[in-house]
Amino acid sequence: MKFYLYNTMTHEKSEFRPLNPEDVTIYTCGPTVYHYAHIGNMRTYVMEDVLVRALRFCGYGVRRCMNITDVGHLVSDADDGEDKMEVGARREGKSAWDIAKFYTEAFMKDYRALNCLPPDILCPATEYIDEMIKLALTLEKKGYTYATSDGIYFDTSKLPDYGRLAGRKHIEGIQEGARVALNSEKRNAADFAVWKFSPKNQKRQMEWPSPWGTGFPGWHMECSAMAMKNLGETIDIHCGGEDHVAVHHTNEIAQSEAATGKTFADYWMHIRFLITGDQGKMSKSKGEFLTVATLPAEFEPLAYRYYCLQTHYRKQLEFTWKGMKAAQQGLTGLRTAALRIKKEAGTPAMLNREAEYFKKFASAVSEDLNMSAALAVVWETLKDNQLPTADRYAFAIAADTVLALDLFKETVPATEELPEEIMSIIKEREQARKMKDWKKSDELRAVLMEKGISVKDTPEGTEWKKI
Ligand code: AMP
Ligand code: ZN
Repeated sequence: MKFYLYNTMTHEKSEFRPLNPEDVTIYTCGPTVYHYAHIGNMRTYVMEDVLVRALRFCGYGVRRCMNITDVGHLVSDADDGEDKMEVGARREGKSAWDIAKFYTEAFMKDYRALNCLPPDILCPATEYIDEMIKLALTLEKKGYTYATSDGIYFDTSKLPDYGRLAGRKHIEGIQEGARVALNSEKRNAADFAVWKFSPKNQKRQMEWPSPWGTGFPGWHMECSAMAMKNLGETIDIHCGGEDHVAVHHTNEIAQSEAATGKTFADYWMHIRFLITGDQGKMSKSKGEFLTVATLPAEFEPLAYRYYCLQTHYRKQLEFTWKGMKAAQQGLTGLRTAALRIKKEAGTPAMLNREAEYFKKFASAVSEDLNMSAALAVVWETLKDNQLPTADRYAFAIAADTVLALDLFKETVPATEELPEEIMSIIKEREQARKMKDWKKSDELRAVLMEKGISVKDTPEGTEWKKI
């Protein structure tokens, strides 16, 4: 089945032509695990998951690699400032390694709660240091790097087409802005570190020996090395949030292509930001943000997935509680329709790929992931009483392989018995609420979420349901 994808590199939507349709390679930049991932980050992962599912739905074989950035992502994009992992370690009085472990697990929990498929390859940067050093050595041999007192830098002026992903003008703007804070040893403002030295007289928690001295890899280096090691020198699709276009992905391209002489990625997909009306862009460094685990109990994590599916990934998405309520209602309504059909039909018919509704759904999905249109087709079809229920049932099963909304999940009535351990947490939480200990109450709600129970506070007491 034909598939169309917008490519940031060419600024146009075109037919997707992978190197091998049976093994489409996708690299998606993963989380920097120094803090929880917020729902903005999760928008990006949900849409990347939709891409993988949509391609599989359309008959492609997909191999997806996602990294975990557990070292080297500095506070400033200009290769200055502290490593975010060390910031997290100081904030919580733990080791950087413990911080990485804790937030990787927290991330994976939220990721799974949104029904995102586990990547075929999940790679923490700290396990690929040798590959990063090897890549930096290749660049050095080819004359692309130079040393300063704080690291080994990539000389962007050696590449005539440096910055082509974001557009030359955009890069010039960045360079102009960066000049003010320019590290004087850099030859060009856009040059970036492929290897940073540990600060003199200070032992970093995460550091490794290298031919240039003890230190750690540059953040961009991590993704280039892991993508090429796991997926090959040219990959089909590289994804990330829109903020990665101008610096991170631009620099991944520069160093990968300088090393191999080959195109690094044929298609670049970027997801626009989730924004909040009052604060603008949602950001981890601002400290206060919403995560999937801390969504109020009235919302299922999958209601957030539904929220994301309603807006095209190339449009900014504004988060509002009103919108979130509507998404939860939408999800519940769609499930009610799906469950009714399942009950009536008993067994699904053979999936009819020639049916108008199937073709409409497939063409929406393959048209640069037009998920709001795809969702509308599912609504229409499930409600169309002219169609045999067994056919609609088969279609809903097929559509849910892309939507991943658990369309046939039944909400368990609150009368069901819960294990004693969970009941006692619910009671402890009720107690905390009576004492107005909102922090503890929130923490216990997160614990219950992890155990698959969402709670809602009503004047009559706590209501709960399995998620
Ligand atoms: P980070 O953990 O900061 O490295 O970011 C993880 C992913 O989330 C990257 O692909 C970012 O581009 C993306 N991202 C960051 N902020 C947002 C946001 N507000 N909305 C959507 N995606 C975001
Ligand atoms: Zn990356």
